[in-house]
Amino acid sequence: MSTESAVALTRTLLRFDTVNPPGRERDCARYAGALLQDWGFKVDYFEYEDKRTSVIARAGGSDKKAPLCLTGHLDVVPLGSRAWTKDPFAGETDGDRLYGRGSSDMKAGIAAILLALKGFSKALTNTPGIIAVLTAAEEGGCIGSYHLAQTQLLGKAGAMLVGEPTANYPYVGHKGSLKFYAAFKGVSAHGSMPQLGVNAIYKAARALGRLESFDFGLPAHPVMGKPTLNVGTIEGGNAVNSVPDAASVGVDIRTVPGMDHGELLTRMKSLFGSEVTLDVFSDMPAVWTTPEQEWVQRVFEICKRHLGEAPAPRAASYNTDAGNLLKVYKGAPTVVLGPGEPQMAHQTDEYCSMERIRQAQEIYEELIRDWCRI
Ligand SMILES: [Zn+2]
Repeated sequence: MSTESAVALTRTLLRFDTVNPPGRERDCARYAGALLQDWGFKVDYFEYEDKRTSVIARAGGSDKKAPLCLTGHLDVVPLGSRAWTKDPFAGETDGDRLYGRGSSDMKAGIAAILLALKGFSKALTNTPGIIAVLTAAEEGGCIGSYHLAQTQLLGKAGAMLVGEPTANYPYVGHKGSLKFYAAFKGVSAHGSMPQLGVNAIYKAARALGRLESFDFGLPAHPVMGKPTLNVGTIEGGNAVNSVPDAASVGVDIRTVPGMDHGELLTRMKSLFGSEVTLDVFSDMPAVWTTPEQEWVQRVFEICKRHLGEAPAPRAASYNTDAGNLLKVYKGAPTVVLGPGEPQMAHQTDEYCSMERIRQAQEIYEELIRDWCRI
């Protein structure tokens, strides 16, 4: 397959406005689904909300070995406040660069997945087969895959490849995330008589002090390092002359493999005191496959030929849908590998390398042949 077709398809995908919020992945999803259907795949759509469409496509399948899953997301982040010098939806090029919102994160990855699948469907009969999962609403909390994992549509997968931007370097995992609001209650009173009220902001402030010095008590993970904790928002009170009866802080914890989120929440509750309510709005486990795992070694071998160096075990800095999909594909070895440039994700004038899209397509094709022995 040529660079030309990879670029043409990426450009077509860029033209669909899937900026999230609001998302509106439906047209893009239907376009990708129609291609896959034409190429002989069985296609299902799933909408967890109006226009928030994910695509599940499969071909082949056997009782002996589960299929290989290739996955990516269809939505892109907003354009941001800085002005673009390129049209974010037109797919302008300059040298090897293809510009557009979502070029790196991750419509180049979606294009590479689609083109790698093209032409394989019949060849996959009586092999373990392939399942492609193109999700809505990954940005801002992996909501699409969260809902998808609660349906029966995903079936099984024996290994998973996530096409998020890595410049085609295979990452063997990423941190998890646990995000929540901690709400503190007080009793309102006039600001001139604070002794008659209970100040919720003081309660929150005392909790914040304990959070700042919080120690996870864990050794550093050999690849991901230590878990982190950040307080990103604080809200409370509505008038300077009133005792505030409510305050809330937003907490973002990035976890490493082996950490139990339930246990961590229990620790947080005891740290904050019994009166606090925790509203968890994102709960994604860390993703990690030991680099010695057999399939990961196959991926490394294939990548070595393309990268010109043997990959070292590395982890991505961002979250992916894999955390949710692995709730269904339990234990499936997982690698994050896609053509986008990781440092271009969410940037103004985002671009990807056109040569890398073609290269990713080749790597994916080799991985499909390797998994299905064709
Ligand atoms: Zn992404």
